[in-house]
Amino acid sequence: MGVEKKILVIPGDGIGQEVTSWGKRVLETIAENFKHKFTFDEGIMGHVAIEATGNPLPDETLEKARKSDAILFGAIGHAKYDNDPTLKVRPEQGLLKIRKELGLYANLRPIKLFDDLLHASSIKPEILQGADILFFRELTGDVYFGEKKRSEDRSSASDLMIYHKYEVERIARRAYEAARTRRKKLCSVDKANVLEASRLWREVVQEIAKEYPDVETEHMFIDNAAMQLIKDPKRFDVVVTGNLFGDILTDEASQIAGSMGMLASASVGDTIGFYEPIHGSAHDIAGKGLANPLASILSAALLLDISFGLKDEAQRVIRAVDATLRQGYRTMDIATKQTPNQFVLGTDAMGAKVLDNLN
Ligand code: NAD
Repeated sequence: MGVEKKILVIPGDGIGQEVTSWGKRVLETIAENFKHKFTFDEGIMGHVAIEATGNPLPDETLEKARKSDAILFGAIGHAKYDNDPTLKVRPEQGLLKIRKELGLYANLRPIKLFDDLLHASSIKPEILQGADILFFRELTGDVYFGEKKRSEDRSSASDLMIYHKYEVERIARRAYEAARTRRKKLCSVDKANVLEASRLWREVVQEIAKEYPDVETEHMFIDNAAMQLIKDPKRFDVVVTGNLFGDILTDEASQIAGSMGMLASASVGDTIGFYEPIHGSAHDIAGKGLANPLASILSAALLLDISFGLKDEAQRVIRAVDATLRQGYRTMDIATKQTPNQFVLGTDAMGAKVLDNLN
């Protein structure tokens, strides 16, 4: 017997609109093939929502989000705001607000390179092959939310790096649980040689580690982790880290996968999960039908796996993406000279190939 779930789709702006329709089509196909009942609703957020209502996250979208089991999101952003930082109402406020309102405290970013894309990365194939990392970035603490100050004469400034024990505990547990289902290795990244907030982070992770004796724990300083990630990415399995270090490390790690157009992420709390490609609204290619839909399709796979526990269905989606790449189909961003018999497709043709491979 299949499961019944409610999914809210928020395409957002720019290429978000173009790619999210393919993530949704994949979910519809999986529901049909596996006899699940997924019901879909749609909400607006970002620039489109500001234009329609004056609010980047209208109450109606938030209400729909609260009533759903999971959210598939595209991207927000418009050149207008990038060029004028003084505009007070901004698309990204919608994203920050929905994360806060839904209590999303952990950002999960799987970095897995498809074998057929080894040449699309700027790192040597022999170093990359087999790399498979799952990042857990904490989302609610750190310098982003600590007290911000500027001296009276405005010549000095500070941002308080603050972590609470409970914030570290809950994300560490989630990371350990995930490590148990993988290669049973967890690397906690901090700067405990210098920062008090990092010393608390490390102490708490060491405590939680006692609950997971089957998982091997390693502690690494952020500077070393940034280097090891490029030098030997295969050495990592699950990586757990704070908001600031996670922000930087996960963008660095996105280069392992070759393109922003290939990576999905999940933001989770204790209830609803929020799934999105890591890329933005890409004004430079928006409306041209060139965007890679695979990150949205892989976001749908992550949604099936994490929010619904449908692991076989998620694997089926990943295999369909893998098969599409093996057949030589590429969007512009992942096309390389080294690939013989390559067919460069637009967004819709690429999405359709994945659907063919799902059936
Ligand atoms: P971006 O991720 O939109 O684009 C960066 C580069 O990668 C561009 O050259 C783009 O063409 C390319 N790219 C991104 N996704 C792609 C895809 N699926 N297929 C092919 N190529 C792809 O980042 P940016 O240009 O810095 O920002 C554009 C807008 O997006 C800004 O307004 C920014 O604020 C917003 N943004 C939103 C989010 C989000 O919604 N989570 C994240 C990052 C940026």
